[in-house]
Amino acid sequence: MSKFFALIPAAGFGSRMGNELPKQYLSLNNKPMIYHAINTLCQTRLITEVFVVLAPSDNEWLKHEWSEFSEKLIVLNCGGVTRAESVLNGLTAAKEKRLVGANDWILVHDAARPCLTSIQLEKLINELADDKVGGLLAVPVADTLKRSDTEGRIAHTESRENLWQAQTPQMFRYDLLTKALRNATNVTDDASAIEALGLHPKLVLSDAYNFKVTYPQDLALAELIIQKRNNP
Ligand code: C5P
Repeated sequence: MSKFFALIPAAGFGSRMGNELPKQYLSLNNKPMIYHAINTLCQTRLITEVFVVLAPSDNEWLKHEWSEFSEKLIVLNCGGVTRAESVLNGLTAAKEKRLVGANDWILVHDAARPCLTSIQLEKLINELADDKVGGLLAVPVADTLKRSDTEGRIAHTESRENLWQAQTPQMFRYDLLTKALRNATNVTDDASAIEALGLHPKLVLSDAYNFKVTYPQDLALAELIIQKRNNP
């Protein structure tokens, strides 16, 4: 039986937040942002272990308390210069420690998506556990999309038919994901690396709550959502 592992690349600096502190450590409901994703992933019974990939220069992680997750959480200090490199380094380190097998599933989840729920996570796992390729959570694009010219004016309107916004977790088997990321150039998510092999990851319908905190206003929104969940 294949097992399910989560891997959180958390070696980025989140420069678009305009903050000194890396984005994954910004305070969200009195916890570092990454706490919320770790909490959801560790609480999900189907997930065996949760790997967190930190930058080798990280000096924030140890300032926080993680002991409540000690049964499942494994920290790897091998982040790279890109997200893809951080994921690949994490996969390699996990294999070196003999923690994962070639056919096990890896669910890669961004540290900056704190509002993931266990319902979304279980849906992803249930829809993909027997899939040949794997896939990801995603939502159909709701807005009308404009392509700009160099003057910041509309060059044309893109059709949003069949367009989806990719989220995480993105779930692929260990060997396939490793091969794809070794082969990948300039990818911003795991699915793109799989696509570059000529494969077609499955889109699993998610919702807008699982958004990525990228700009300062996103943090306020995530805080409201988590507060509301804690005090329904
Ligand atoms: O910057 P962005 O929001 O696209 O980052 C997505 C995820 O990838 C974040 O969790 C971030 O910490 C991680 N990342 C990483 N290593 C990098 C760059 C980003 O682990 N070099």
